[in-house]
Amino acid sequence: MYSPIVGVGDQKFGHCTKHRDAHPSVSIRDNKGSFRCMSCGYRGDTITIVQDQEGLDFMGALRWLIEEFSIEAPERMYRDQKRERIKILEKAGDLNGAMSILMGS
Ligand SMILES: [Zn+2]
Repeated sequence: MYSPIVGVGDQKFGHCTKHRDAHPSVSIRDNKGSFRCMSCGYRGDTITIVQDQEGLDFMGALRWLIEEFSIEAPERMYRDQKRERIKILEKAGDLNGAMSILMGS
């Protein structure tokens, strides 16, 4: 479960998702894109939270954020996904499929 953020500017806080947290213990630093719980020391960034809350690895959390917020994926990620698909098709013996990805169709 995600926690709402309270506060404005550089002074933003939220409830820790790792334990019962009656008062917001998590300090959020927008300028650094990070957070830290003053009570238990849980810390990280947006990707850390998505990894923990959705049970995903790093790349899975990136994909979740891209889909959830309609973020345009960096070109490098598309290239990496394309390479992965080509590898799978090559392993499966589908050279026509691999070629069509290479040719951009
Ligand atoms: Zn905590």
